[in-house]
Amino acid sequence: MHDHGNLILILGDQLTPHISALAGADRQRDTLVMAEVHDEASYTNHHRKKLVLLFSAMRHFARALQEDGWQVHYHAYDPASDRRSLEDVIRRQLAVTGARRVITTECGEWRLDNEIRQWAQRLDVAVEIRLDDRFLASKEEFANWAKGRKQLRMEFFYREMRRKTGFLMTPDGTPEGGQWNFDADNRKKWTGRPPAPAPFRVEPDAITREVIELVNGQFAGHFGTTDDFHFAVTATDARAALAHFIDFALPCFGDFQDAMSETEDWLFHSILSPSINCGLLDPREVCEAAVQAWYAGRAPLNAVEGFVRQIIGWREFVRGIYWLHMPGYAAENRLGYNRDLPWFYWTGDTRMRCMHKAIDATRRNAYAHHIQRLMVTGNFALLAGIRPEAICDWYLAVYADAYDWVELPNVLGMVMHADGGYLGSKPYAASGKYIQRMSDHCANCHYKVSHSTEEDACPFNALYWHFIHRHRKQFAANPRMTMMYRNWDRQTPERRQALLGRAEDLLERLEQL
Ligand code: FAD
Ligand code: SF4
Repeated sequence: MHDHGNLILILGDQLTPHISALAGADRQRDTLVMAEVHDEASYTNHHRKKLVLLFSAMRHFARALQEDGWQVHYHAYDPASDRRSLEDVIRRQLAVTGARRVITTECGEWRLDNEIRQWAQRLDVAVEIRLDDRFLASKEEFANWAKGRKQLRMEFFYREMRRKTGFLMTPDGTPEGGQWNFDADNRKKWTGRPPAPAPFRVEPDAITREVIELVNGQFAGHFGTTDDFHFAVTATDARAALAHFIDFALPCFGDFQDAMSETEDWLFHSILSPSINCGLLDPREVCEAAVQAWYAGRAPLNAVEGFVRQIIGWREFVRGIYWLHMPGYAAENRLGYNRDLPWFYWTGDTRMRCMHKAIDATRRNAYAHHIQRLMVTGNFALLAGIRPEAICDWYLAVYADAYDWVELPNVLGMVMHADGGYLGSKPYAASGKYIQRMSDHCANCHYKVSHSTEEDACPFNALYWHFIHRHRKQFAANPRMTMMYRNWDRQTPERRQALLGRAEDLLERLEQL
């Protein structure tokens, strides 16, 4: 037993050499603890690629720390181990080392945060939880910004973050290009030109191959496949992926940000969220690289501004909301939805082409881009009135970048409007027309997007009007929705009846769509 140093707990999404838990630590006295434990790996049906990513990235990070002279206790996944939770692992290490203090950086999930806060009492040690300074805005800073505002709007928070970081700001404090937001330029359909770049690929090394075998053996019942795993699992590879994005995709990121395609899974997206969220990439570094590309004339402003906004705006904003409103936020269901999630969310087995494509990509890649998540699988869940908890569980399980702090507000708030419009000013409900405008799916679909009430009509159409009709009380007074209500009211009573009848029929047999 060595001299009583501290235990420093590093979680699977804290794979950052400058993580605050390590500040001031002593390589000789302190013990770093990292653990692949049953409880964390199994509390939801995590996609197998997500498990491979996290276990492999953790193992690589632990090895790098050891090579750097740290003492690391690494608890590799072992189904027979009696240490099934992080608390079990910490309890044992406290006994082994005689440490009296556990240091960690605040975690990304209310459930675990709550558990760790009880360790002081349960394990009779000092527990020091440090701020996660990888985020631009601390929880407290966000809470101060939010104080006294009835509704929170991302756009205003984003401007604060632009000022704070100086990204895309002129020396006199105005936004570059004279505008804060160039979204109006970012809604083009993609018709194959310019060709979308292949995503950056890292071939699995010996560590990753071993993890793939472990996951296929121990998590065989979990969603998705490990085939063709190519995500970065080290900071070096993640930086190479960032450079690849800046060179090949960023120039078109803005133009085709909302586009969807039959043939291309990734289009011009960065695919960096899995790396950013587990700590391999620092969000500031990612934004800085994009901003420098604009200054160097290598990418247009609409692309760079749009990209930076996602990271310093949306990403920080949803995190702020999560911590401001948990644990109550997770239980919100203001639209009163209680339908079960159709089984095809797990199989992709549906004749709706857009849904099939989004779910199939999700199953293969543990990835779908934002518009697929928002306007296809999300939009359908909203129109069909799926129970928020069920659809939140699905999103948390199926994406490699999914952690409670970011998944929950995006699904419960942005998609399901279950928080009563706190996060988003209007629901992102849309008919098939939107999907037709932004993709080439409809031409290959069993259903006809131009039909609404016929047997072969696109289900999104009647369900959209049903949604508008059933929520008149909630949305008719919303200025951003008046046009929809005017359009609905303009239709003949017979037509309205036919649309509602068709929607009721669809809702009765969701599983068969
Ligand atoms: P890009 O399109 O290249 O965007 C760049 C970066 O911006 C992303 O890497 C991400 O860090 C950030 N970003 C963009 N939009 C958001 C957003 N709305 N919230 C937070 N960060 C954002 N993102 C997650 O990281 N984890 C999730 O679990 C998650 N769940 C989502 C669920 C739904 C229903 C929706 C609508 C969105 C969700 N998002 C989530 C946000 C977004 O879809 C993903 O961040 C993005 O698709 C990741 O792919 P990318 O790295 O190629 O993103
Ligand atoms: Fe999706 Fe409807 Fe288009 Fe089919 S017709 S791809 S269901 S929007």
